[in-house]
Amino acid sequence: MAVKNDAPYKKGDVFTVRIEDIGNDGEGIGKVDGYTLFIKDAVIGDLVKASIMKSKKNYAYAHLDEVIEPSKDRVTPLCPVSRACGGCQIQNLSYEKQLEFKAGKVRNNLIRLGGFDADFIEGIMEPAIGMVDDEVAVSRGTTKESGIPAHFRYRNKAQFPIGTGKDGKPIAGFYAGRTHAIIPVEDCFLGVEENKDILDAVLNHMEKNKIPAYDEKTGKGLVRHVLIRKGFTSGELMVCLVINAKSAKAFPKTEQLVDKLKAIPGMKSISINLNSKNTNVILGDELETIWGEDSITDTLCGIEFSISPLSFYQVNPVQTEKLYGTAVDYAGLTGNETVWDLYCGIGTISLSMAKNAGHVYGVEVIPQAIDNARDNAKNNNINNATFYVGKAEEVLPAFYEGKLGAEVEDSREKALHPDVIVVDPPRKGCDKDCLDTMLKMSPDRIVYVSCDSATLARDLRILVDGGYELKRVRPCDMFPNTIHIETVVLLTKA
Ligand code: SAH
Repeated sequence: MAVKNDAPYKKGDVFTVRIEDIGNDGEGIGKVDGYTLFIKDAVIGDLVKASIMKSKKNYAYAHLDEVIEPSKDRVTPLCPVSRACGGCQIQNLSYEKQLEFKAGKVRNNLIRLGGFDADFIEGIMEPAIGMVDDEVAVSRGTTKESGIPAHFRYRNKAQFPIGTGKDGKPIAGFYAGRTHAIIPVEDCFLGVEENKDILDAVLNHMEKNKIPAYDEKTGKGLVRHVLIRKGFTSGELMVCLVINAKSAKAFPKTEQLVDKLKAIPGMKSISINLNSKNTNVILGDELETIWGEDSITDTLCGIEFSISPLSFYQVNPVQTEKLYGTAVDYAGLTGNETVWDLYCGIGTISLSMAKNAGHVYGVEVIPQAIDNARDNAKNNNINNATFYVGKAEEVLPAFYEGKLGAEVEDSREKALHPDVIVVDPPRKGCDKDCLDTMLKMSPDRIVYVSCDSATLARDLRILVDGGYELKRVRPCDMFPNTIHIETVVLLTKA
């Protein structure tokens, strides 16, 4: 049967086109006689030569062959593999324009997906909080290099997939965009400089002892990922090797590798995580510390946090302080409020708020993160925080229906009708049962911290239809050079 192809152009057709817009994934958008071309790595304002890779009736994906006339907003990427690597999508766009693009994305999603009025959103949106060069030099804990702009080397965590190179030697790097092919990069410019020293040690050890990298296709091989975290304030380093095995003993000559790693200044914790599942999920549930501590510490907003390899911890500490500062500001705390912090991780937002609240209840699904949260409260002498392990969409309804106790029974009434509920869900947003219970609990204010403005828009629509008013919206750039953007939103009871 013949396949009908209505596309006016075919693969290989070449065009010269001016880039007029930027798509959701950071790609450049140009038009040829009303026909749309999506061109990855082309920057708004560029004049480019591009060839069609895949064409449809109304649009095509084209390859950037040549920049004929660079846009005034185009910059030279610091990273030599920025085009091949899927980690950064907009490193070639000036930082100022990156922020503009991200704020625009939040605005568009609220309007298109949330069904909010464009003028209304325009009126309440506050400017995106970006990274500022002067603030960063010391706080990111970098000592070796200077003169690198603030929007690089900001990540305190990296998870490098391990694979096998063409020459058979082990490699570490990042996935190419939309694939699972590993682009070798040991020194990613978003991460800390120690990443390279650590990966060198691991890869050398693997090569010397003929330890095979894991192969996703066959499910064979041992080393899957290396997770590295650095406390920017404490300078402490954590390494976690994720291996395809049922026991940490399956990793050969651990002591030799430990000897190399512990010599790296700042090393505090070395662990092995077991993951023998055929899955995209990086970490398995089982963890064994093979040297040093189970957790590292770091200080945020004046509070010391203990962080285990399995716990979520914001990756950009400089911006996290501004993000939490905005959330605390939106929460409008005066000292007596009852606050729920849903999706609380290791309790970072809960404890930042506890100082100015009556009582804070945190809910989080990862048990190790809740262990950290409880320790964090104790270590910082914070006594007015209670943490529950479980899914927000299960714990909150259970509490509401009286199936879960409050810390102090006479505070139960207050917890049922809190002053503030904060949510900070993963990208998929909040579960409907969670939102419904929030509406029943009817807090005065809801502070929504979101890392995906599409699911944010969907959830805000539910909350607004349920009787809340959208008051403030502020994007905060936690992930420079990528298309991702965090947003803090304030809703009040209408
Ligand atoms: N507020 C914290 C964590 C935010 S990330 C911080 O700023 O550090 C989102 C957190 O939600 C993660 O810790 C994740 O483990 C947790 N999580 C994911 N699904 C969940 C669910 N259904 N219920 C509760 N927590 C969940």
